[in-house]
Amino acid sequence: MKLQTTTLDFDELNELDAEKQAEKAEKRGKTRVGYVPIPYREFFGKMHIEPEQMEERIALAQDIEREVLFIFAYWAIRDDIEVSTEQLKAELKERLYGVITERTKVDDYIKAHLDELADQIIDTTEKRNEEIAQDESMGIQSYWLSTDRAMLISENEANSIENYVEYRQAKSQGFTHKRWLTELDNKVRDTHAEIEGKVADIDELFRVGTSLMRFPHDVEYGADPEEIINCRCACRYEP
Ligand SMILES: [Zn+2]
Repeated sequence: MKLQTTTLDFDELNELDAEKQAEKAEKRGKTRVGYVPIPYREFFGKMHIEPEQMEERIALAQDIEREVLFIFAYWAIRDDIEVSTEQLKAELKERLYGVITERTKVDDYIKAHLDELADQIIDTTEKRNEEIAQDESMGIQSYWLSTDRAMLISENEANSIENYVEYRQAKSQGFTHKRWLTELDNKVRDTHAEIEGKVADIDELFRVGTSLMRFPHDVEYGADPEEIINCRCACRYEP
Protein backbone atom coordinates (compact mmCIF):
# COMPACT_ATOMS: atom_id res chain seq x y z
CA MET A 1 0.00 0.00 0.00
CA LYS A 2 1.27 3.45 -0.86
CA LEU A 3 0.11 6.30 1.32
CA GLN A 4 -0.76 9.54 -0.35
CA THR A 5 1.81 12.22 -0.92
CA THR A 6 1.38 14.67 1.91
CA THR A 7 1.90 12.08 4.63
CA LEU A 8 4.27 12.50 7.48
CA ASP A 9 6.00 15.67 6.59
CA PHE A 10 5.67 16.58 10.23
CA ASP A 11 9.33 16.16 11.06
CA GLU A 12 9.84 18.95 8.54
CA LEU A 13 7.08 20.91 10.20
CA ASN A 14 8.74 20.27 13.53
CA GLU A 15 11.77 21.98 12.06
CA LEU A 16 9.72 25.04 11.21
CA ASP A 17 8.15 24.92 14.62
CA ALA A 18 11.60 24.61 16.20
CA GLU A 19 12.76 27.63 14.24
CA LYS A 20 9.72 29.63 15.34
CA GLN A 21 10.37 28.63 18.94
CA ALA A 22 14.04 29.57 18.63
CA GLU A 23 13.05 32.96 17.25
CA LYS A 24 10.68 33.52 20.14
CA ALA A 25 13.38 32.51 22.63
CA GLU A 26 15.79 34.91 20.98
CA LYS A 27 13.31 37.76 21.26
CA ARG A 28 13.07 37.08 24.97
CA GLY A 29 16.86 37.30 25.11
CA LYS A 30 17.36 33.59 25.41
CA THR A 31 19.17 31.56 22.84
CA ARG A 32 17.91 28.10 22.29
CA VAL A 33 17.96 25.84 19.29
CA GLY A 34 15.17 23.37 18.77
CA TYR A 35 11.82 22.67 20.24
CA VAL A 36 11.45 21.68 23.87
CA PRO A 37 8.95 18.84 24.18
CA ILE A 38 6.41 18.52 26.94
CA PRO A 39 7.12 15.58 29.29
CA TYR A 40 5.10 12.52 28.23
CA ARG A 41 2.92 12.30 31.32
CA GLU A 42 1.89 15.92 30.90
CA PHE A 43 1.49 15.70 27.13
CA PHE A 44 -0.69 12.58 27.10
CA GLY A 45 -2.27 13.37 30.47
CA LYS A 46 -4.11 16.33 29.01
CA MET A 47 -5.71 14.33 26.24
CA HIS A 48 -9.30 13.18 26.53
CA ILE A 49 -8.43 9.51 26.82
CA GLU A 50 -8.79 6.85 29.51
CA PRO A 51 -5.92 6.36 32.02
CA GLU A 52 -4.97 3.02 30.48
CA GLN A 53 -4.85 4.56 27.00
CA MET A 54 -2.58 7.23 28.43
CA GLU A 55 -0.26 4.63 29.97
CA GLU A 56 -0.09 2.78 26.66
CA ARG A 57 0.81 5.94 24.81
CA ILE A 58 3.49 6.86 27.32
CA ALA A 59 5.03 3.39 27.10
CA LEU A 60 4.88 3.43 23.29
CA ALA A 61 6.45 6.89 23.12
CA GLN A 62 9.26 5.74 25.43
CA ASP A 63 9.93 2.72 23.23
CA ILE A 64 9.96 4.77 20.02
CA GLU A 65 12.23 7.33 21.66
CA ARG A 66 14.70 4.60 22.64
CA GLU A 67 14.93 3.35 19.05
CA VAL A 68 15.23 6.84 17.56
CA LEU A 69 17.99 7.71 20.02
CA PHE A 70 19.76 4.48 19.15
CA ILE A 71 19.76 5.55 15.51
CA PHE A 72 20.94 9.05 16.42
CA ALA A 73 23.85 7.49 18.32
CA TYR A 74 24.64 5.42 15.24
CA TRP A 75 24.43 8.52 13.09
CA ALA A 76 27.00 10.29 15.22
CA ILE A 77 29.57 7.57 14.54
CA ARG A 78 28.43 6.43 11.10
CA ASP A 79 31.62 7.49 9.33
CA ASP A 80 33.72 5.44 11.71
CA ILE A 81 31.60 2.33 11.34
CA GLU A 82 30.91 2.91 7.63
CA VAL A 83 27.16 2.52 7.77
CA SER A 84 25.15 3.97 4.88
CA THR A 85 22.01 6.10 5.01
CA GLU A 86 20.07 3.19 3.50
CA GLN A 87 21.33 0.84 6.18
CA LEU A 88 20.30 3.28 8.87
CA LYS A 89 16.83 3.55 7.37
CA ALA A 90 16.50 -0.23 7.25
CA GLU A 91 17.75 -0.55 10.82
CA LEU A 92 15.30 2.04 12.11
CA LYS A 93 12.40 0.37 10.26
CA GLU A 94 13.21 -3.02 11.80
CA ARG A 95 13.41 -1.47 15.24
CA LEU A 96 10.10 0.36 14.84
CA TYR A 97 8.35 -2.78 13.52
CA GLY A 98 9.71 -4.53 16.61
CA VAL A 99 8.24 -1.93 18.95
CA ILE A 100 4.79 -2.32 17.37
CA THR A 101 4.92 -6.11 16.98
CA GLU A 102 5.32 -6.42 20.74
CA ARG A 103 1.91 -4.77 21.05
CA THR A 104 -0.19 -5.43 18.00
CA LYS A 105 -0.23 -6.58 14.38
CA VAL A 106 1.82 -4.55 11.93
CA ASP A 107 -0.63 -4.31 9.02
CA ASP A 108 -0.16 -2.48 5.69
CA TYR A 109 -1.20 0.88 7.10
CA ILE A 110 1.19 0.69 10.06
CA LYS A 111 4.01 -0.64 7.90
CA ALA A 112 3.64 2.13 5.30
CA HIS A 113 3.49 4.67 8.11
CA LEU A 114 6.62 3.38 9.86
CA ASP A 115 8.55 3.11 6.58
CA GLU A 116 7.79 6.68 5.72
CA LEU A 117 8.56 7.85 9.24
CA ALA A 118 11.97 6.14 9.27
CA ASP A 119 12.85 7.51 5.81
CA GLN A 120 11.88 10.96 6.88
CA ILE A 121 13.79 10.91 10.17
CA ILE A 122 16.96 9.87 8.37
CA ASP A 123 16.45 12.24 5.41
CA THR A 124 15.88 15.21 7.70
CA THR A 125 18.95 14.31 9.75
CA GLU A 126 20.97 14.06 6.54
CA LYS A 127 19.78 17.48 5.42
CA ARG A 128 20.96 18.92 8.74
CA ASN A 129 24.34 17.27 8.53
CA GLU A 130 26.30 20.50 8.19
CA GLU A 131 24.56 21.98 11.19
CA ILE A 132 25.21 18.81 13.17
CA ALA A 133 28.92 18.89 12.25
CA GLN A 134 29.12 22.54 13.22
CA ASP A 135 27.48 21.86 16.59
CA GLU A 136 29.87 18.98 17.15
CA SER A 137 32.90 21.13 16.36
CA MET A 138 31.72 23.57 19.01
CA GLY A 139 31.26 20.75 21.47
CA ILE A 140 27.49 21.15 21.80
CA GLN A 141 24.90 18.50 21.26
CA SER A 142 22.95 19.14 18.09
CA TYR A 143 19.17 19.42 18.32
CA TRP A 144 19.00 17.07 15.33
CA LEU A 145 20.49 14.22 17.38
CA SER A 146 18.92 15.19 20.68
CA THR A 147 16.49 13.64 23.11
CA ASP A 148 14.24 16.67 22.55
CA ARG A 149 13.84 15.83 18.88
CA ALA A 150 13.41 12.12 19.63
CA MET A 151 10.70 12.92 22.18
CA LEU A 152 8.85 15.22 19.83
CA ILE A 153 8.83 12.55 17.14
CA SER A 154 7.76 9.92 19.69
CA GLU A 155 4.86 11.92 21.13
CA ASN A 156 3.48 12.51 17.69
CA GLU A 157 4.03 8.91 16.62
CA ALA A 158 2.51 7.33 19.70
CA ASN A 159 -0.65 9.26 18.93
CA SER A 160 -0.61 8.40 15.24
CA ILE A 161 -0.25 4.71 15.91
CA GLU A 162 -2.53 4.41 18.92
CA ASN A 163 -5.29 6.38 17.20
CA TYR A 164 -5.14 3.99 14.27
CA VAL A 165 -4.97 0.89 16.48
CA GLU A 166 -7.96 2.08 18.52
CA TYR A 167 -9.92 2.73 15.33
CA ARG A 168 -9.10 -0.75 14.01
CA GLN A 169 -10.06 -2.28 17.34
CA ALA A 170 -13.32 -0.33 17.64
CA LYS A 171 -14.36 -1.51 14.18
CA SER A 172 -13.60 -5.12 14.97
CA GLN A 173 -15.52 -4.84 18.23
CA GLY A 174 -18.57 -3.60 16.38
CA PHE A 175 -18.65 0.03 17.50
CA THR A 176 -20.72 2.04 15.06
CA HIS A 177 -20.00 5.66 15.99
CA LYS A 178 -17.11 7.90 16.92
CA ARG A 179 -16.77 11.30 18.50
CA TRP A 180 -13.87 13.72 17.83
CA LEU A 181 -12.54 15.19 21.09
CA THR A 182 -10.08 18.06 21.33
CA GLU A 183 -8.29 19.22 24.46
CA LEU A 184 -10.61 22.22 24.64
CA ASP A 185 -7.74 24.62 25.35
CA ASN A 186 -6.50 27.65 23.43
CA LYS A 187 -3.80 25.61 21.66
CA VAL A 188 -6.35 23.57 19.72
CA ARG A 189 -6.12 24.62 16.08
CA ASP A 190 -9.27 26.24 14.70
CA THR A 191 -9.94 23.48 12.21
CA HIS A 192 -10.08 20.96 15.07
CA ALA A 193 -12.04 23.20 17.46
CA GLU A 194 -14.71 23.40 14.74
CA ILE A 195 -15.37 19.67 15.01
CA GLU A 196 -15.07 19.31 18.79
CA GLY A 197 -17.61 16.73 19.97
CA LYS A 198 -18.73 15.91 16.44
CA VAL A 199 -20.24 12.46 16.11
CA ALA A 200 -19.94 10.44 12.91
CA ASP A 201 -20.59 6.90 11.72
CA ILE A 202 -17.48 4.84 12.30
CA ASP A 203 -16.61 4.64 8.57
CA GLU A 204 -17.42 8.26 7.85
CA LEU A 205 -14.66 10.80 7.22
CA PHE A 206 -14.34 13.91 9.31
CA ARG A 207 -13.76 17.03 7.26
CA VAL A 208 -10.89 18.78 9.04
CA GLY A 209 -10.11 22.07 7.32
CA THR A 210 -9.62 20.91 3.74
CA SER A 211 -8.55 17.40 4.79
CA LEU A 212 -10.53 14.21 5.21
CA MET A 213 -9.67 12.01 8.17
CA ARG A 214 -11.16 8.92 9.83
CA PHE A 215 -9.60 9.88 13.19
CA PRO A 216 -6.98 12.37 14.46
CA HIS A 217 -3.57 11.75 12.77
CA ASP A 218 -5.14 9.67 9.97
CA VAL A 219 -3.11 9.95 6.76
CA GLU A 220 -5.05 7.44 4.65
CA TYR A 221 -6.75 10.19 2.63
CA GLY A 222 -3.73 12.45 2.28
CA ALA A 223 -4.43 14.81 5.18
CA ASP A 224 -2.43 18.02 5.29
CA PRO A 225 0.50 17.64 7.74
CA GLU A 226 -0.67 20.88 9.31
CA GLU A 227 -3.65 18.93 10.64
CA ILE A 228 -1.40 16.26 12.14
CA ILE A 229 1.69 17.70 13.77
CA ASN A 230 1.39 17.78 17.56
CA CYS A 231 -2.36 17.18 17.38
CA ARG A 232 -3.64 15.98 20.74
CA CYS A 233 -7.19 15.19 19.66
CA ALA A 234 -8.66 11.76 20.25
CA CYS A 235 -11.67 9.75 19.11
CA ARG A 236 -14.10 8.14 21.49
CA TYR A 237 -15.90 5.14 20.02
CA GLU A 238 -19.54 4.59 20.82
CA PRO A 239 -22.08 1.87 20.15
ZN1 LIG B 1 -6.20 18.18 17.03
